[in-house]
Amino acid sequence: ESKRKTIQSFVRAYPDFPQPGILFRDICPILRDPAALNTVIDLFEEHVKKNHMKVDVVVGIDARGFLFGPLLAQRLGVGFVLVRKKGKLPGSCVSVAYDLEYGKAEAEVQEDAVAAGQKVLLIDDLLATGGTLFAAVELMKKLQAEVLGCLVIIELKDLNGSDKLKPHSVFSIIQY
Ligand code: IMP
Repeated sequence: ESKRKTIQSFVRAYPDFPQPGILFRDICPILRDPAALNTVIDLFEEHVKKNHMKVDVVVGIDARGFLFGPLLAQRLGVGFVLVRKKGKLPGSCVSVAYDLEYGKAEAEVQEDAVAAGQKVLLIDDLLATGGTLFAAVELMKKLQAEVLGCLVIIELKDLNGSDKLKPHSVFSIIQY
């Protein structure tokens, strides 16, 4: 509990960013503090161990999932895979379209990044509506990977993102 409180003190809120009416939660101060960053990874690792998750691959979401995912993957002694916005990854990719608050986007993963049957953990900085992580779940389905769950630092509870991700579990360090 005290660890969560510490992490919460490193999250800042910016009203009207990137658009009027949006309260943007910023995790950048966590990265500026090596002890805070270490605590985030500790909490993720504790969750994985406590739930006896046998993780084969950590999958991070573009872009802030890339900041935390590799650190967790190293702790767990497994590889890290990137889910990117369309057009950024070379080679054969599978892709999925998903809705943003305004408009549409497409997410991609390299076809050979995860093998069929591998157990994956998805990671991002923040869960809002769940659309982004849901797209990543869809990509993992296409590769016939097994999703063990989703990890985020922040969950915006009012938007019910965790319902959208059911039956997959969501672990968050801070909830608003
Ligand atoms: P969702 O798809 O609605 O769940 O939105 C989650 C995605 O949007 C994540 O990749 C987040 O990084 C980003 N996002 C949405 N709102 C915020 C915010 O307040 N702070 C930081 N990132 C956000």
